[in-house]
Parts: sequence; C-alpha cells; structure tokens
Amino acid sequence: MPSTLRVQLQLRIVSDDDAVIQDEVILELDKSDDRIEAVGLCLKDSKDLLGRLQNAVVEAQAAAYVNRHRCCSVCSRRLRGKGQYPIVFRTVFGNVPLASPRFYRCRCHPADSKTFSPLAELFTEHTAPELLYLESRWASLISFGMTTALLKDVLPVADTTNPETVRQHLHQVAARQDADLDGEPASLVDSGSAADQVSPIPREAVIVGIDGGYLRNWHDKKRNFEVIIGKSMAEDRDDRYFGLVRSQDATPERRLREVLRRQGLPTDQPVTVLTDGGDSVRALAGDLPAGSEHQLDWFHIAMRMAVLGQYAKGLAHDNPLEATALQDRLERIKWRLWHGDAGEALNRARELAEDVAALTSPYSGLTRLVKATAGLVTYIGNNAAAIVDYSERWDHGEIISTAFAESTVDLVVSRRFAKKQQMQWSKQGAHLLLQTRTRTLDGTLHDLFTTWYPAMPANDVQPTSFAAAA
Ligand SMILES: [Zn+2]
Repeated sequence: MPSTLRVQLQLRIVSDDDAVIQDEVILELDKSDDRIEAVGLCLKDSKDLLGRLQNAVVEAQAAAYVNRHRCCSVCSRRLRGKGQYPIVFRTVFGNVPLASPRFYRCRCHPADSKTFSPLAELFTEHTAPELLYLESRWASLISFGMTTALLKDVLPVADTTNPETVRQHLHQVAARQDADLDGEPASLVDSGSAADQVSPIPREAVIVGIDGGYLRNWHDKKRNFEVIIGKSMAEDRDDRYFGLVRSQDATPERRLREVLRRQGLPTDQPVTVLTDGGDSVRALAGDLPAGSEHQLDWFHIAMRMAVLGQYAKGLAHDNPLEATALQDRLERIKWRLWHGDAGEALNRARELAEDVAALTSPYSGLTRLVKATAGLVTYIGNNAAAIVDYSERWDHGEIISTAFAESTVDLVVSRRFAKKQQMQWSKQGAHLLLQTRTRTLDGTLHDLFTTWYPAMPANDVQPTSFAAAA
C-alpha cells in the first residue's frame, strides 16, 4: 500500500523585538510515495508556495511600514485615519493586493496636503524592479510571447501577464535608460569622481565598429528602416554593445560616450571608429571625442571591389579584352585604397566609370556594372577622409575591418528581430528593444537596474554576456 505524507509549510514572521507577527501554516501538500512523478515538489507546488509566501511577506512588510508611519514624526501623536484604497504590487511571484491606508497629517507642523498614504512612499512603482528586470532580460532574447510562456511555466507570475504587458514593461525600462542619457544619470554622478581619475588609453586600444542593418517597417510594409549597431572593444575590458534607430534618437553621440563610461574609460577617450561608410553610420561617427579617428572599414571596401570583380568576370564572355583590362584597373584601384591613397583611387575610379559607361556590349550585366562603378566613385568620394593606409596598419597588427561589427549586427538584430521570418517592427519598438537587448547581450542589464535600485540583490546566476551563447 502506498502511503501519503502530509507536508505542512509553516510561516513564522518575527519583528526585531521578537514579537511574533505571523505564525501559521500557509500550505499543505499531500505527497504519495508510489510513483516517481509524485516525488518531491512539482512546479505547481512551488508556484503555490512562492505565491503564498510572497503574499504573506509583502503584507507583513507593508503593515510594518504603515505602523512606523502612523504616528506624527514630530510630536509622535497617533494620526487619524481617512480610509484606505486598494493597490496591487506586481512581483515575479504574483500580484499582491494591498490596502493602502490614508492618514490626516498632524496639525503640529505645516504641510502641503491634508492627508498622505505611507505606502505610496514605499511603492513608488507598482511593479517590482526584479519583475521588470526579468521580463526585459528575457524579452530581449526571445519574443514577447515566448517570454510570457516561459515566465508562466516556471513562476507564479500573475495570470494577466501577456505579451503586451511584457512589451510595455520592456519599453518602460528602455525609455528610462534613454532618459538617463539625456539627463544627468545617477550612475554618472556616483562614479563621477572615479571616472575623472581614469586617464585615456591610446586611441589604437579602443576600436568601435558601427554598422547598419535593416528591419521591415510595420507601418509601411513595403519599406525597411535602418538600425545602427555598434560594438566597442577596448584593451583588457569586456566588449560593450549599443544600438539605435536614428530617427528615435535625439542624442546618438552620447551613446558612444556612455559605452566608453561602461567600459571604465573616460568619456573623452579617443577611439578608432570603423564603419562601412554608409550615410547614417558616417553621420554618427561625426562627433567623436578629440583625437579620435574615423576609418572606413577595409572589409566593406574589399567586398565592393569583389563585387565589381565579379561583373568584370561576367563581361569576359562577350568582351574578353575589355574584361581583362577592367580587372587590371580594379586591382590598381584596390592597391591605391589599400595604401590609403584616396585621391588617386578616386581619379582612377572616375576614369573607369566613364569608360565603362561608354562601353558597348551584349553583356546582360552591363547596366549593373555601370551602376556599380559609378557607385564606387561616390563611395570613395564620400569617404575619402576615412580611407587610411591599411597596409601600414595591417603590418602593425591593428584592426582594419569591422567584420566583427557586421557579425554584431547579425547577433543583435537578426536573431531577435527575426529578419528571416520577416517580422515587422515600428521604429520606436525596434529602438527600445535595442536598448535592453544590447545590455542583455553584453551582460550589463543588471548593472543598469542597480543604478536605479541600489538595494536590488545581485543575481546569483552570473548575468554574463549572452553574446557567446546566443
Ligand atoms: Zn505632530
């Protein structure tokens, strides 16, 4: 015969003067021992337990807080009550309904208002920071729907939790993060003196790659919009990411400084910024700390030249002589670029574009070839100032390519924004998600929360970078 154990969970809450505030059984479990699936606590047991425990603890804390504030802080006279109103505190272990009492202020001292509610001072927000953190973190990694399902699977979160509430919470967190950039964030004030003492390291030791990616626009389904992703790599420091949608960002130049600060570098740290030379990315690199350098990334130059090389190859079938000459001229332009001679590369690209435009050939790719050579002229012209002597840097072992930035775009954008499934985004939604996603990926989302909620306990699961795992 199987036997059944009755497990009683007793909760005892004691004040610091040893007075028992609560002492009662909060949960009883009947546990049989005849089948493996009945051994131990099941998820449902854990949710029931945590939910009830949370209720009791929050109620006791709220009651203690009200108790401490129910007498006048000046004359200690007991305050007269003026009813109460309901509030709900949303936590990872469920919603806790509370009655928030209102008191008349004591007349022994002047005050702005007649009444006040002590709990309004404690519950400055009605969502627990840890719930905001958990929702933002997971919704940064997986969809809002999957985040909801995950939380409901393992935690007694409120039944009302749904993809929309998770999205709203993430947006709140991201908007607050952006607001910190605009104003004087507490974190900057705190570490201000320390940050001042940090002295810059050599420019070559801090490489920032910035690259763009495209998302499908929810509001205008035929169009894409650009997201900009950056990665800062500094010697002896962990990598940090940032991302933004240009039209949603009033202060894009602050983002780079914020990233440098998070790497323990002074905000005037000179950096080497590598970009693909696209218009919006180039604009972002326009306001860099003094002594910084904007460098057109060699990887993108080489890609362009390779594409042109392919067209030249295609031409070989119909115009073999012209094709060989074209390939030869492309090689020479590439060589000029490799040695940082943008002026001569531009001259040669112009001549090449004119000659290609005048070419007569049955080659089906001719139009594309003409367009691509003209594009090369524009590209070199726009980015001439950012074309450096790559050969020299290469010899010195310096980074000359943002292939790493492109893989960052892949990591930050593709996997969560589901480019392949053609998911559609609003510019605002994408911008906000990029804020929490970059902090989640580089492992600093929890740090962000502790700047807002200093007493928030550290997570014993090391919130390390997801970059490698994702
Ligand atoms: Zn008083």
